[in-house]
Amino acid sequence: MTGSTAIRVENLSKTFDTAAVLHDLSLDVRAGELLALLGPSGSGKTTLLRIIAGLDFPDRGRIVFGAEDATRLPVQQRAVGFVFQHYALFKHMSVADNIAYGLNARKRSERPAKAEIKRRVGDLLDLIKLSGFADRYPSQLSGGQRQRIALARALAVEPRVLLLDEPFGALDAQVRKDLRRWLREIHDRTGQTTIFVTHDQDEALELSDRVAVLAKGRLEQIGSPDEVQEAPVSATVLKFLGDTI
Ligand code: ADP
Repeated sequence: MTGSTAIRVENLSKTFDTAAVLHDLSLDVRAGELLALLGPSGSGKTTLLRIIAGLDFPDRGRIVFGAEDATRLPVQQRAVGFVFQHYALFKHMSVADNIAYGLNARKRSERPAKAEIKRRVGDLLDLIKLSGFADRYPSQLSGGQRQRIALARALAVEPRVLLLDEPFGALDAQVRKDLRRWLREIHDRTGQTTIFVTHDQDEALELSDRVAVLAKGRLEQIGSPDEVQEAPVSATVLKFLGDTI
């Protein structure tokens, strides 16, 4: 169920060299929702995602997870899972070892027992409908299958939030469409709080519970797909969503 606030992004600003990339940006992510960050290339989506992940840090503003100020927390301590367009699987590891990677990497006192890891990997393979693939290697998989495994790997650590940055961007149009539907199904089954970055309006509108529209590092609008389509708050949103109406 969506409802309480899982993550608060408060007054975030970030400048690279002299170029301001995020300007005083605030938004809430609700527990259990699939939030799309939608905007044209260069609007600051990846930078925002990296700051939420702890892969980068803001100049000003805060990231709050639940009641915890996580702004300066390193990535390893944030319990986030991510899938990037080019965040490849480990080629020398089997599918099962790829999925278990985050669990095996934990220090011994926090690592589940071997049998428990095996059970979890099996459950995840069922979830992504690739049971029977445990002993294959990434080179034996299609691009779409690899991204499904990457998603299972991200989910294996039971992340507080799943961060997806154009995860299907490198795949062809039909595979993308299938995976979109598939991701929505997985989300409905797991209720995993998820942020999905895309510059593709159709993808954002079809997939998400809410869409946050970014332009030039500012939040233009946040709302349900219907709200942003039917009542765009600015000419920028209208222009960006215009193609799909
Ligand atoms: P988007 O994901 O919406 O395409 P990004 O967050 O990747 O946008 O980039 C926003 C702007 O910040 C771009 O102009 C990009 O060139 C710049 N930028 C991103 N990362 C860096 C970096 N590490 N150093 C310098 N400029 C950066």
